[in-house]
Amino acid sequence: MRALVLREAAGKVAGAIEEVPESQLPPGDVTVAVQYSTLNYKDGLILGGLGRLVRQYPHVPGVDFVGTVEASDSPQWKKGDAVVLTGWRVGEMQWGGYAQKARVSGDWLVPLPAGLEPKNAMAIGTAGLTAMLAVMALERHGLTPAGGEILVTGAAGGLGSVATAILAKLGYSVGASTGRAALHDYLTWLGAATVIDRAAIATPSGKPLDAERWAACIDSVGGSTLAAILPQMKHRGAVASCGLAGGMKLETTVIPFLLRGVSILGIDSVACPMAERKQAWARLVRDLPADKFEAMVQMAGLSDVLRLGPEILAGRVRGRIVIDVNR
Ligand code: NDP
Repeated sequence: MRALVLREAAGKVAGAIEEVPESQLPPGDVTVAVQYSTLNYKDGLILGGLGRLVRQYPHVPGVDFVGTVEASDSPQWKKGDAVVLTGWRVGEMQWGGYAQKARVSGDWLVPLPAGLEPKNAMAIGTAGLTAMLAVMALERHGLTPAGGEILVTGAAGGLGSVATAILAKLGYSVGASTGRAALHDYLTWLGAATVIDRAAIATPSGKPLDAERWAACIDSVGGSTLAAILPQMKHRGAVASCGLAGGMKLETTVIPFLLRGVSILGIDSVACPMAERKQAWARLVRDLPADKFEAMVQMAGLSDVLRLGPEILAGRVRGRIVIDVNR
């Protein structure tokens, strides 16, 4: 099988496309012929050897994939089943989707949702699934479109693009924050009611409370952006904290929690329980308009992945990149 293999030498991580015997695949009861994987922010970190996410080399990265079951010792799956994998630290603690074959536990797979093209399952991928998990968490918190404006940060990135499109379809008024002025039209097309310059919410005002603006927020950025947003939340508002593209440290006061009942909802896609995952995939089929995929997605081949890793870390990728592992 053809695979992108990362090797570590003298403290540096470097990758190359290699022919790898299938016998080297990790243990697992299901072998999948992979069709597509994607590029997520975490893939960018892993490709760059950052964050100590990978402990053992040689390593095949790729945190998600879609494909067809080729062999199964799991009672849940049979040859020919179309399956999707996201999370469970695949592509990180064990070999992942940047290869023509993958071997994983059958407990980690979900069926490709009916009505979803394999390519579009990966147009969604880990980032898109996380966006849906964030929407569902906010709904459990009681959010409805009548509550007011919803802020999406890192809106032109993968998670942000999917979140913007879903929220707009559900009737929410979305404020999409981006650092890229050239992508304002793209965000408006995805459904944003207003586009906000990232700089306007990059730094906290210094006051424990600002004027109330946002009923909720889906945040990919973290750091000082999250610290700036919390004092702007409306009474009983909630932030779904998904990412750290702008930093992982959060310096804030407890005043928004105490005086306005603001909540931070943590969103974890990696070990998300299976029932919630399946529900999220079903909701994605229903609530992510199919016509949004085209503008949101770029196709690339396995040989493009190494070049694209630094691009996603630099915040230069628009929407989602689907990787055709057979190209
Ligand atoms: P992307 O790179 O596609 O999106 C991140 C976006 O954040 C960028 O496009 C950019 O948007 C913005 N951004 C980038 N750098 C900065 C910065 N320094 N300051 C402010 N904004 C910045 O990544 P993904 O969509 O794949 O992932 C987004 C985040 O969510 C990542 O931190 C990732 O680790 C996390 N994540 C978490 C998951 C979970 O389970 N909790 C699952 C999936 C992702 P713009 O140009 O529009 O401003």
